[in-house]
Amino acid sequence: MATPEFDVIVIGGGHAGCEAASAAVRAGACTLLLTHRFDTIGEMSCNPAIGGLGKGHLVREIDAMDGLMGRVADAAGIQFRVLNRRKGPAVRGPRAQADRKLYRRAMQAAIEAQSGLTVVEGGVNDLIVEGGAVAGVVTEDGRRFKTRRVVLTSGTFLRGMIHIGTERIPAGRVGEAPALGLSDRLYALGFQLGRLKTGTPARLAGDSIDWRNLGVQPGDTPPVPFSFLTREITTPQINCHITRTTQATHEIIEANLKYSPVYSGQIKGVGPRYCPSIEDKVVRFKERDSHQIFLEPEGLDDDTIYPNGISTALPEAVQLAFMKTIPGLENVVMRRAGYAIEYDYIDPRELRPTLETRRLPGLYLAGQINGTTGYEEAAAQGLMAGLNAALAERGAEPVVLDRAQAYIGVLVDDLITRGVSEPYRMFTSRAEYRLTLRSDNADQRLTPLGLALGVVGPERAEVFGAKAVALEAAKQMARESRLSPNELMKRGFRVNQDGVARSISDLLGHPEIDLAALGAVWPALLELEPEIAEQLEIEAQYAGYLTRQQSDISSFRKDEGLRIPDGLDFDVVAGLSSEARLKLGRARPATLGQAARVDGVTPAALTSLMVHIKQRARRTA
Ligand code: FAD
Repeated sequence: MATPEFDVIVIGGGHAGCEAASAAVRAGACTLLLTHRFDTIGEMSCNPAIGGLGKGHLVREIDAMDGLMGRVADAAGIQFRVLNRRKGPAVRGPRAQADRKLYRRAMQAAIEAQSGLTVVEGGVNDLIVEGGAVAGVVTEDGRRFKTRRVVLTSGTFLRGMIHIGTERIPAGRVGEAPALGLSDRLYALGFQLGRLKTGTPARLAGDSIDWRNLGVQPGDTPPVPFSFLTREITTPQINCHITRTTQATHEIIEANLKYSPVYSGQIKGVGPRYCPSIEDKVVRFKERDSHQIFLEPEGLDDDTIYPNGISTALPEAVQLAFMKTIPGLENVVMRRAGYAIEYDYIDPRELRPTLETRRLPGLYLAGQINGTTGYEEAAAQGLMAGLNAALAERGAEPVVLDRAQAYIGVLVDDLITRGVSEPYRMFTSRAEYRLTLRSDNADQRLTPLGLALGVVGPERAEVFGAKAVALEAAKQMARESRLSPNELMKRGFRVNQDGVARSISDLLGHPEIDLAALGAVWPALLELEPEIAEQLEIEAQYAGYLTRQQSDISSFRKDEGLRIPDGLDFDVVAGLSSEARLKLGRARPATLGQAARVDGVTPAALTSLMVHIKQRARRTA
């Protein structure tokens, strides 16, 4: 029988893999998704929640390119909250608590609905390499599939090792075998692999918790969806609860640190600084006598509770003992112990901006394998890797988002220029142009690009088109509707009596004037869709800052425009220190702007590099 052949093969049906497969199909590639089991597609290995600060921006951006995560989260969300609502619009982060089962089901349905996508169950054990490039994959049971483009999204499965106390279990996730063959192949190919770790808390039986005295955390009403396509959230909504660790909890943890694999030296991998285990919190923040815990239901018809904030790898008996010192959990029943997992990742400085590896042409990497943590970070990379694999296969130009265009651009650029020293997660503070990269305008930033690439479906094209028309009409009204200071005074607005007429936009720039107040003068404002009204207000309030940011972005793009020739030998660049040569050689930046972001590259080194590139360009012109 002839070996089946595909344009693109995606390995792994996790958060990166699903987005990669869907993006490749939308970009016209005949695609195969090879994953261990269909029923674990869309599995949330850790907390059942999507979005949050920085992460919510990523979800909106994925959605703007017609990706899956936003719509799936809307179908599965059982509590929606916009975080930082009272802070500036740049740092607001949509988040949803999800019903694990509904999320899996919705993602599986979305994958099944992709025409042009074949899904095959099986573990990939090896890559076929021919002439120094990818030529296909081989499964554990010996099936072979041909392709020139592989997107590898194997998550925590590369030499995965679970730790609970002193117990060590080889696994990719609890109950699932690790991928050993692939790790061996990647080592043999010479990839720089490192070790990281992450962890998850125990799961608790909801009916064993005494809810009576716990703080209640309701969601937003009405819930704000992730997707620009979702008009309304119809899934029933629930409350979460809040409790705290106590002095007694900390004492038990401290007394048992020697049994924690993190502190006994059993785990060598570095964990996420911003999502520490409870052992880490107790040791690192000794001055604090209590840590907050969110008790989050895992589903509508599942009373399992995810205690967010106490991930741990202590022995099971110790976990139960410390849990019982927490208010509300005195009689708690543990359904599953928490654990830590150590796994291999590949140094993302091995990647091009398209997420293709330099070492093995045709191999793209996305997700946790690149040293990130989080579903959203994984999905964002999956989208870009899947798109680029499909574009490359049809000989089209690659698509790379820059740091002024999207959080996805920030994520990819950080990974490939700086590498990681701990699991990387997104924060709004990582973006320089936050006011421009808002979650509310992700569609305007990215949907036109998606349309140009042909990866946005007709439904979104129509919704986007209608919104663009409405937004432009609203902006025009805001620019052109004016009143003199005198007339404004008569209507109760206090503005300088300088004889200069003020537009709606000008007036919205005053902190004490909002759209609702102006609605009394211009009733059409009250008829605007909430998302249009929100954008009008934000853009008017921050007009000055946005203009200034735009000029910063122009100078940033000038440096980004100066390309460093692929394969440039940094040893021949006159004036570079050996440290700069080493670091640039490792990161292999694609542009002068990227070179500036490599740690240890000084302004003097950049000047030398720029002179060299310009001289070289003149010689070859
Ligand atoms: P995954 O979602 O893990 O998907 C990998 C997929 O690849 C799976 O479907 C698997 O079956 C498949 N696969 C693997 N190898 C092969 C192979 N050889 N052949 C075929 N299929 C294969 N993130 C946070 O943000 N906060 C946390 O607190 C947090 N805690 C975590 C705790 C644990 C225990 C784990 C396991 C993960 C945790 N994460 C956390 C990380 C989050 O789950 C991941 O970042 C995210 O799921 C990564 O997505 P991915 O697509 O890269 O991999």
